[in-house]
Amino acid sequence: MIAADGVESKFARWCGIDTTVPMAEIETCVQYLMTDIDIDSGLNAFYLGRDVAPEGYVWIFSKGEKTANVGIGISGKMCKDGKRPKDYLDAFIAEHLPNGKIIELMAGGVSACKPLECTVADGLIIVGDAARLSDPITGGGIINAMYTGKLAGEVAAESIAAGGDCSKKALMRYDTEWRCSKMGKGLKRNYQVKEIFIKLKDEKLNSIVKSVNKLDMEIFDTKYLIRELVKYNPWLLKDIGTLRRLLD
Ligand SMILES: Cc1cc2nc3c(=O)[nH]c(=O)nc-3n(C[C@H](O)[C@H](O)[C@H](O)COP(=O)(O)OP(=O)(O)OC[C@H]3O[C@@H](n4cnc5c(N)ncnc54)[C@H](O)[C@@H]3O)c2cc1C
Repeated sequence: MIAADGVESKFARWCGIDTTVPMAEIETCVQYLMTDIDIDSGLNAFYLGRDVAPEGYVWIFSKGEKTANVGIGISGKMCKDGKRPKDYLDAFIAEHLPNGKIIELMAGGVSACKPLECTVADGLIIVGDAARLSDPITGGGIINAMYTGKLAGEVAAESIAAGGDCSKKALMRYDTEWRCSKMGKGLKRNYQVKEIFIKLKDEKLNSIVKSVNKLDMEIFDTKYLIRELVKYNPWLLKDIGTLRRLLD
């Protein structure tokens, strides 16, 4: 059985695995598909700040001319009456995109926690959001779900072809392989970085964001972003501790 049932991750729970995400580590999200908005279709925009999206961010991900996914994720622990993600998003849109039209709404949770301690059991492989494999900084999980889904299929097929041993021990190759992959190492590093960033005050976030305009977008990825942020904001190392080792 391959559990690919997303963030609710009920199937693994039915199998006795604790898939609980701490309230502080579930990002509660709302997204509109908007049109008639004046945006640069070549850019994705991120807005950070306590008043904009506490412990999260607002995104504008272009989908072409005048159309974009405009969404928000905030920490579950910051969510209360009058301060739900939709309240923040509607306020943001009223200020920045007042003439836009909303043509679709979607809502959901995104985990920003560590992956499950083990993503296999006897006869079971857990993939994607169900295994808590979305990026703790960006919340992006589509590529990770596709990568682990494919890997799980391969490991399951090989185990069956080799005589049908689908024990936890036989399936462990799946767990080891994704943890040693670029994705697995990135998730580990980004969890630690996220823990630092969510505690930063807005003034410090502003000073960090100012250094982003020095980035070379041709070679951009999360690891490069963090390395460059530390280069221009060396005080981050004081907070980040083991980050230097993780960046090597
Ligand atoms: C508002 C929002 C915006 C996002 N934007 C982005 C983005 O821009 N980029 C990005 O990379 N990620 C984004 N994500 C995260 C991304 O959606 C997930 O990481 C990704 O979809 C995970 O894929 P998955 O296959 O693991 O789970 P899912 O896509 O959630 O798929 C799980 C499927 O299993 C089905 N299911 C559940 N239980 C059962 C059951 N018992 N039986 C049968 N079927 C079942 C569900 O209906 C669902 O179709 C966003 C998330 C949200 C909430």
